[in-house]
Amino acid sequence: MKYGLYIDYDWCSGCHACELACKQENDLKLDQWGIRVIERTYQAEDKRVIEYIPIPTEYCNLCVNRIAQGMKPACVHHCMTKCMDFGPIEELSKLVEKKKKSVIWGSNK
Ligand code: SF4
Ligand code: SF4
Repeated sequence: MKYGLYIDYDWCSGCHACELACKQENDLKLDQWGIRVIERTYQAEDKRVIEYIPIPTEYCNLCVNRIAQGMKPACVHHCMTKCMDFGPIEELSKLVEKKKKSVIWGSNK
């Protein structure tokens, strides 16, 4: 079964807690990030939109050690708005079907 991270970026506040939690969990160096929160702005009809989109990187190992101990990934656990989740991609895809601004990030690690 393939697992992944579900990210509902409609609710991401851009707080960066996931970045720091990942860095601490994986003991990453200053310039290494397991996940990065990207900010993008654009004009949509009559309003200016600001979105924060967390994107896992090559350093993401889906927190294999935590999962083996029955815990959620560090980023999911520390997310302030609970806009992230972890699970089988098949189950996460059901969440994506209901949300317009959400993605699944999968890894073959
Ligand atoms: S799942 Fe773990 S390794 Fe991957 S981004 Fe989240 S905290 Fe980092
Ligand atoms: S911790 Fe959650 S709300 Fe904060 S930046 Fe990361 S995904 Fe967004």
